[in-house]
Amino acid sequence: MSADTILDLLVIGGGVNGAGVARDAVGRGLKVALIEGGDLGGATSSASTKLIHGGLRYLEFYEFALVRKALAEREVILKAAPHISWPMPFLLPHEPHLRPAWLIRAGLFLYDNLAQRHEVPGSSTVQLRKDAAGPAFDRHLTKAFRYWDGWIDDARLVVLNARDARARGATIVTRDPVTTTRRTDFGWEVTTASGRTFATRQLLNCAGPWAEKVARELMGVNDAPRLSLVQGGHIVTRKVNRTADAWMLQQPDGRIIFVIPYEGDYSLIGTTETPVDEPGAKALTQAEESYLLEAVNRSLAKPLTTDDIVHRFAGVRPLVLEEGKALRETTRDWKLVPHDGAAAMTVIGGKITTYRLLAEAVLKQLFPATKPWTKGAVLPGGDIPRTRATAQADFESWLIDLKARHQLYDPAIVQRMARLYGTETETLLDRGLGANLGGLFEAELQHMREQEWATTAEDVLWRRTKMGLHLDAKAKTRVATFFGERAAVSA
Ligand SMILES: Cc1cc2nc3c(=O)[nH]c(=O)nc-3n(C[C@H](O)[C@H](O)[C@H](O)COP(=O)(O)OP(=O)(O)OC[C@H]3O[C@@H](n4cnc5c(N)ncnc54)[C@H](O)[C@@H]3O)c2cc1C
Repeated sequence: MSADTILDLLVIGGGVNGAGVARDAVGRGLKVALIEGGDLGGATSSASTKLIHGGLRYLEFYEFALVRKALAEREVILKAAPHISWPMPFLLPHEPHLRPAWLIRAGLFLYDNLAQRHEVPGSSTVQLRKDAAGPAFDRHLTKAFRYWDGWIDDARLVVLNARDARARGATIVTRDPVTTTRRTDFGWEVTTASGRTFATRQLLNCAGPWAEKVARELMGVNDAPRLSLVQGGHIVTRKVNRTADAWMLQQPDGRIIFVIPYEGDYSLIGTTETPVDEPGAKALTQAEESYLLEAVNRSLAKPLTTDDIVHRFAGVRPLVLEEGKALRETTRDWKLVPHDGAAAMTVIGGKITTYRLLAEAVLKQLFPATKPWTKGAVLPGGDIPRTRATAQADFESWLIDLKARHQLYDPAIVQRMARLYGTETETLLDRGLGANLGGLFEAELQHMREQEWATTAEDVLWRRTKMGLHLDAKAKTRVATFFGERAAVSA
């Protein structure tokens, strides 16, 4: 094996953590490969609640360092990807028997002030009877608190990190799981299911819920972390949010449920917390569905029923269990586990919000002589001209200009595309969109196939876009046919 064919770092797992580390590492001048067994972001990183948040509720568990870190990072992400992320107001209805107003006000004061804030406004008190959001709520709710966090398209965040990594020279392999690894004198030899072999000095296990299995069974290390796996389920329903506000609803069991305006016509409601044995997410059970419906109906003027559910999805969170703590109290911070004397590390947990910081922490340990660079660097499509006070204001004014320059297209189509592809929309529109397959254009499918590793209708309908919610069966079949598949994809 000649020295120039040996990678500096091979990353197993193309979720947000793996893609984030690969991007950061290659930008530091390292030779990097990222190997994903399925689709990029195909596991937990496309099944999150999609919040870029400090985590207001973690304050209750005294996780001040985590909340401060995540709040500061919220600003960084909103600037790096203003097309796929934006500030979002949240309403927290006041339920005096669950948490007293003084406690919530104190929490929100901290939340507003723990980190510097330019991209999002501060919190306020709302009289629901006088607010446009009010009529959606049951009459017993009269007062609420409004605070701000961020929303992001999690699956696109993964793909954009992988694209930036590839543009800087990283090798990205998808749908080809790592099947064996072997220790060598230079580090590791890694083989995939298709028989591709890589030599690497350092091996990084970013396999999310599979991390324990990969460490124990594939890497053969004897200090593999022991994980507890918890499934979080979401339902997508007819829209119940009347305004741009998402809701944070307190539950009698101490948990909270988010109800988020989603994809224009819908609300995204989650999550459940169900201990599971297997890393792969399972379909939501009847009990999980009922829990979410009951949770949201406690606050709604017009309750939801099963018939209002149009889509369901779940993701599995790996947790390192802490002695004497309930699941909801267990830290959402990441844990890095260097394997003793083995030129290898396993990464566990974290949040979508803090993936970039996690990458910096990993590389500080593995390659201490290299320098961080990603803070302030935009992701593909995020290079919107900056002239205004916030990145979102810049995006909005760029979008107005884009619509004006492409008046031949329906402004709703330009808007939809701008939220997916950012500034790359310009090239797509200039070159022409080709046939309309019933909501998605041929040029988009080509873009996703050639630039974003999409190989199936499922990749496109539920991860690169969420058009699975909007397209009818005929259009879905046309997308499947584009990818050479025979069957249409499920709802
Ligand atoms: C229900 C839920 C809601 C959440 N909501 C939020 C939120 O609102 N905001 C937030 O900041 N965070 C949220 N999170 C946390 C966030 O989603 C996770 O921290 C993040 O997605 C973890 O990413 P990951 O890369 O570690 O794992 P994953 O995304 O699971 O990626 C691991 C990858 O490894 C691959 N893999 C496994 N074995 C192999 C192999 N042998 N070879 C190659 N590849 C392999 C898998 O295919 C998978 O794609 C949520 C988590 C859950 C479960």
